[in-house]
Amino acid sequence: MTDKERILELRDTLNKYNYEYYVLDNPSVDDSVYDTLMQELIMLESKNPDMYSQTSPSQRVGGVVVDEFKKITHKRSMLSLANAFNEDDLRDFDKKIREITGLETVRYMCEMKIDGLAMTLVYDGDLQYAATRGDGITGEDVTTNVITIKSIPSSVKLDKELEVRGEVYMSKATLDALNEERRQNKESTFANARNAAAGSIRQLDSSIAAKRNLEAYWYYFVNASDFGIRYHSDALNYLETLGFRTNPERRLVYGIDAVIDYIAEYTEKRPKLAYDIDGIVIKVDDMSLYDEIGYTAKTPRWAIAYKFPPEEVVTKLVDIIYTVGRTGKITPNAVLTPVRVAGSLVQRATLHNEDFVNEKHLRVGDDVVLRKAGDVIPEVVRTIPDPLNTNPEFEMITKCPVCGEPLTKIDAMHFCLNPHCEARKIEGIIHFAERNAMDIDGMGEKVVEQFFNQGFIRNITDIYKLSRYRDEIISLDGWQSKSIDNLLTGIENSKHNSVERLINGLGIKECGEKMSKMLARKYHTLDDLMNASEEELESLTDVGPVLAQSLVDYFSDESNRAMIEELRELGLNFEYQGLDNSASETPFSGKTIVLTGTLSSYGRKEATELLESYGAKVTGSVSKVTDIVIAGVDPGSKLDKARELGIQVMDEEEFLSYINK
Ligand code: NAD
Repeated sequence: MTDKERILELRDTLNKYNYEYYVLDNPSVDDSVYDTLMQELIMLESKNPDMYSQTSPSQRVGGVVVDEFKKITHKRSMLSLANAFNEDDLRDFDKKIREITGLETVRYMCEMKIDGLAMTLVYDGDLQYAATRGDGITGEDVTTNVITIKSIPSSVKLDKELEVRGEVYMSKATLDALNEERRQNKESTFANARNAAAGSIRQLDSSIAAKRNLEAYWYYFVNASDFGIRYHSDALNYLETLGFRTNPERRLVYGIDAVIDYIAEYTEKRPKLAYDIDGIVIKVDDMSLYDEIGYTAKTPRWAIAYKFPPEEVVTKLVDIIYTVGRTGKITPNAVLTPVRVAGSLVQRATLHNEDFVNEKHLRVGDDVVLRKAGDVIPEVVRTIPDPLNTNPEFEMITKCPVCGEPLTKIDAMHFCLNPHCEARKIEGIIHFAERNAMDIDGMGEKVVEQFFNQGFIRNITDIYKLSRYRDEIISLDGWQSKSIDNLLTGIENSKHNSVERLINGLGIKECGEKMSKMLARKYHTLDDLMNASEEELESLTDVGPVLAQSLVDYFSDESNRAMIEELRELGLNFEYQGLDNSASETPFSGKTIVLTGTLSSYGRKEATELLESYGAKVTGSVSKVTDIVIAGVDPGSKLDKARELGIQVMDEEEFLSYINK
């Protein structure tokens, strides 16, 4: 891959992660993964100056403003911070500051970098508004939510305007309690405190934020010079006298060695703090130097954020237990003494398969090192054997832990192939109700297990007959008439889903969400898909022989056919609705589209999926059959070719104008 291709790929990936992090408040990868990719992008862009683009994620403040909130244009832009990952980075930062200012020793303020949501408050006596950072220029007006935080002054005794910035956050204890409550209510939990704080503030209903027990620390007095204040340290003290909470761990130090000592001290103290920090912020204390030191489009040069390396923690491996998936796959899982790692409490971790456990020499009773990397899911990195541990070495089970059927080994995996195994049935029902399948609200893992064990639901058709047990369910612990009625409504609504959800929900081997969508678009009805021959299926671009065989096997099985007929009688929709819905709204349906350049709103994969959901076919190269080329920044030769062939070209703005309708 050339540098140019890699740069485009990294921009795509980072835009996607930004979207998940800032818009959905739900990242799919750990921050350390994001930071490593960003470093690579910055390095490649500096090596290839012709690839400079002001819309690259390296040049822009990552957040966005969603339409639901009123927009606020910041009086002074809200920037991000440059990062330091090691001592050398910190010394380089200090060297540059000394070169610019001519100072021999710089006075720095060291502060906690709390992992929350940046906020700006503007007062004119009374609080005028509270806004998120957004894209740095424009933020979201979240005043009604922010004023539910009791420690924030609603007015200040001043006749001048005042702008203060800080971090809204959720303490570790609040996050743990909130996640516990959500688990009990069968709701999804927050991956970390940052997402919980951001998710609570970016709510339209302020009663939610009010219940979340949020807190805030204020770390920057934006217009301190209007008050004749020169030093950042004095500005923070002044804010405190006005009633703003400032962080007591901050420390004024002289020279970079003292900064490095402070970081070492807080690396130790970090686990004991009441809130999560992901680093230490270092700021030049003399604010009169700020203009001279300067800014980039994204960050001030007078401050830097030291980021802690991904956290590793040690805990005990208490047990190894096994789960049985819907395909019968057996997965060993570590049961751990609960421990906090990178912001969340962990007590389980997947051990993947027999080989993984053997390679790591894992043995119940030994300590293990856990780390969050590559994913928000924790990973067992290595073992620390205890010489006094008398437990036997690990040995993979040979029988299904649920039905007792002897296991079959296929490649590195063990399977229970008994189709009547209860665990497989439960997993199949859970999968059917999942968000990306039939999306039945309130029907999570715990509920399915409960109903299965009570005998209310033994297979997926039983879901649609659940109302006959309504009275019995109300008498169960944790259920009330309102919660069961909500669930029954969710079940009823799912009958109208477009058919790709049903295809996915059936749990046919090799046929996941994306493939189900493709098949639904192609065949329109479940009946047409059921009647498709193996050869016909195999002739489709994305369908290989294994999937074609799996589909034919599934639909020719008598019991599967009977179940599908029962679902039809129960009133489930068997037709594809995506195309019809979108046809009237967008110009993409049925069109062949090529994407080129970088879109700032969506990564390449997301944009492709979005277009496909509107019934378009997205291909990689421009030819006579191309209908539309959507061109982002730095489009390259595909755009030239489109122009040559007279193909319709759409810029990002036009593209968004259709999909945001
Ligand atoms: P940043 O988090 O590196 O630093 C800037 C922010 O630090 C400020 O906006 C402010 O909110 C916060 N901050 C906390 N304490 C502060 C203090 N005392 N003084 C000043 N600021 C303070 O930068 P960012 O632009 O907000 O976010 C980028 C980071 O977010 C990345 O480095 C990455 O770690 C994470 N991220 C992760 C993903 C993901 O998918 N996991 C995606 C996007 C961003």
